[in-house]
Amino acid sequence: MIASIKDNLEDIKSKGLYRNLPPIAKSHTKYTIFNGEEKLNCASNDYLGLSHNDQVKEAAAEALRMYGNSSGSSRIVAGNYDLYDKLEYETAKFKNYESCLTVNTGYTANLLIISTLADSRSIVFTDKLNHASIYDGIKLCGAKMVRYKHNDMNHLETLLKKYDKYPNKILITDTIFSMDGDKARLKEIRKLKYKYNFLFVIDEAHATGIFGEGRGIAHEEGVEKDIDINMGTFSKALGGFGAYICADKNIIKYLINKGRSFIFTTSLPPSVIGGNVKSVEIVSKEHEKYGGRLLDNCRIFTNLLATLNIDHEKSNSQIFPFFFKDNNSALEVQKKLLDSGVYALLARRPSVTTPRLRISLRADFTNEDIVKIVKCLKKII
Ligand code: PMP
Repeated sequence: MIASIKDNLEDIKSKGLYRNLPPIAKSHTKYTIFNGEEKLNCASNDYLGLSHNDQVKEAAAEALRMYGNSSGSSRIVAGNYDLYDKLEYETAKFKNYESCLTVNTGYTANLLIISTLADSRSIVFTDKLNHASIYDGIKLCGAKMVRYKHNDMNHLETLLKKYDKYPNKILITDTIFSMDGDKARLKEIRKLKYKYNFLFVIDEAHATGIFGEGRGIAHEEGVEKDIDINMGTFSKALGGFGAYICADKNIIKYLINKGRSFIFTTSLPPSVIGGNVKSVEIVSKEHEKYGGRLLDNCRIFTNLLATLNIDHEKSNSQIFPFFFKDNNSALEVQKKLLDSGVYALLARRPSVTTPRLRISLRADFTNEDIVKIVKCLKKII
């Protein structure tokens, strides 16, 4: 066993897929500190910089002082303070849903939703580029997994027709795809929902706080009422941690009563909940200053790329992928960018099939920062 682990590690290295944990001493606002040097952070999902927001930090500290460092148990035992109810009430209101449940991570939330609502007699339709947690949720419950080609509605409909007889059908899609930065076709999927009758689940991890006045893509496209379960994370644009699941009250009650990844785990620390409450308040009241500002930055970045003739894949969001033919050339460019002061994420297998550098923009980047990033890309790519 130990010998084969060693061989496997050598195999991973030979394919240019080996990962070291990056030597980041700390990060502050838009910078991350590598070996003592500040780099513009284009790799994190803290898109709005809220993880360093003074009000968020103070709310987290206040919750820590009031409730202690740990919730001490799962929600259904003793780890359910009024603060948790407040977060769920505010999040449901913000997302325009009847009810909400807070879960420990986005990863767990997808596991919880799928493995509680589906079983070996169910079928789950999933976009090929959906997040890994969605795949893992399907595997966990033993449902039949049917993957449709990315954003390909004809392919999806062919599959829906083929499996129309299944009694329990679920369709789940990211709304902003995390490694490609493009949007799901929610309106078209909605039409198919009423034709083929499935439970419609979306993952707004990379959209909440930014699109649809911060409420997400479902809100932007006016399809909230057609979406049965709307999940997302507090760990990305909201600068906190954990996830929410919004749905009608019976679905939420069912998850509380039957969801193993909710029942058998300690709830989030109170400080995290306190910070999340403040972040939800900020994004709902100050969209222009945060999500709006980020979308402006995306427009500036896109225009500059076009002006300088930099070849890039079309993105509809704050996530911009730059593709490479192999892992080593992507790794080399990542190093050069880092030496020039820009930290971009290198995505490889198993996260994606085509290696890429993923640049994510932030609301706290200035025009000068964006010009710097684009100039570095022009010089290096
Ligand atoms: N869904 C999507 C689309 C994601 O990109 C991620 C995180 N990369 C998750 C879920 C998991 O969220 P978390 O990091 O809170 O576990």
